[in-house]
Amino acid sequence: MLPPLLIESLQGIKGFDKTAFEAVHQSALQLTSIRINPAKKVERATDNPVPWCNGGYYLSERPSFTLDPLFHAGGYYVQEASSMFLWEVLKQTIGQNTSGLKVLDLCAAPGGKSTLLASYFTNGLVVSNEVIKARASILVENITKWGSDNVVVTNNDPSHFSVLTNFFDVIVIDAPCSGSGLFRKDKDAIGEWSENNVKLCSQRQERIVVDILPCLKQGGTLIYSTCSYSKQEDEEVLDKIKESNYLESVALNIPDNWGIITTQSDKTASYGYRFYPYLTKGEGFFIAAFTKTDGGLDGYYQEQKLVAVSKSEAATMQSFIPLADTYTLFKQGDAIKTISTDWFSALQLLAKQLYIKKAGIELGTIKGKDVIPHHELAMSHLPLNGFNTLELEEQKALQYLRRQDIFEESNLGWNLVKHCGLPLGWAKVLPNRMNNYYPQAWRILKD
Ligand code: SAM
Repeated sequence: MLPPLLIESLQGIKGFDKTAFEAVHQSALQLTSIRINPAKKVERATDNPVPWCNGGYYLSERPSFTLDPLFHAGGYYVQEASSMFLWEVLKQTIGQNTSGLKVLDLCAAPGGKSTLLASYFTNGLVVSNEVIKARASILVENITKWGSDNVVVTNNDPSHFSVLTNFFDVIVIDAPCSGSGLFRKDKDAIGEWSENNVKLCSQRQERIVVDILPCLKQGGTLIYSTCSYSKQEDEEVLDKIKESNYLESVALNIPDNWGIITTQSDKTASYGYRFYPYLTKGEGFFIAAFTKTDGGLDGYYQEQKLVAVSKSEAATMQSFIPLADTYTLFKQGDAIKTISTDWFSALQLLAKQLYIKKAGIELGTIKGKDVIPHHELAMSHLPLNGFNTLELEEQKALQYLRRQDIFEESNLGWNLVKHCGLPLGWAKVLPNRMNNYYPQAWRILKD
């Protein structure tokens, strides 16, 4: 049963209709949607697009994603359709020219918004942060599979960013919330809802925004979202953050037939956009955008040197994977990594302040004369056509993804294992066996 106190608190909010709300939660209808990775181009039925997001599609049924090799190859991300509206917000606030922009996704795990941002800001830098360590690891997994080389994953509290004054052009806060918007999908969450939690979430949301706002440049865009219907977590947070900061609310143009409800907060008339599952084809969601109008232009950063690779290491790597000279190689421990040279100094600066979980693409480690390639390289969009490949049919691909022993005739040495032409990971072929290098932690456990 839906919490009566929630229903009561929603009465009078624009777009809320008690009868329709209860009916939609009683119905057995479940929506499934995916967003295709534009850099990997998998073939999927595209007859039912999500109207507000490039590459977003509704599926007619929910397949077992775990048993689809192309899911593990980062060919697509399973994302709830309302959340994909971030794409439309970016289109209307940032536009097409994303070159050189620095973007922070502050509450990023498991990575739905970050993978969308990585695809949108192909010429920008995306810093994808998650405060909870275990969730940051899932984030690394999903970002790795997505394969973009313009993402840095960090594991920090929002307050740790405070030294990066006026650093980001765009900040996305997909805030931790009471989660009522997902009740249709996750019935167990209904029992966890309480008025007190809504209050605690609201206070935490305000604190997160206030902590991070100094990091947004003047003229920069702040995007705030939740999957809660509660006004305390939505419009009331907009009021609190607008009252004490230099922010201007951004109004969006939205076609009526998308069923999205435009609201304005009580005190500052800030625009918010509400998604109700009986009006839109998606789950409950709330999103709003602001432009930062003032707040100082200062910001002094002292750059920290990441470890440079030696000439011989660079030569070894270059012969293993030839990269354009627009990439910089650097080392973290033994791992040799690369990022676009355009973003190297920003990365140096981030590395000084934050705990970096992933930066650019890890190419591999040098062991004697050999290079042990890293999974991030297999998942990346870097030129991989120089490697031997081993194409596996579905059942063999699943065996590979379970990290089982398989043997297939192929060229000796490192092979890029593929399914339907999309890389799944690495295998080393020896004369009488094959070593499976699929990451242990990410192997499929389900039969
Ligand atoms: N943006 C993600 C996506 O699209 O896949 C979903 C983010 S989820 C709604 C909110 C995230 O905020 C969670 O991963 C949670 O661990 C994190 N979080 C929890 N407490 C936080 C805090 N105090 N500051 C920042 N993030 C927090």
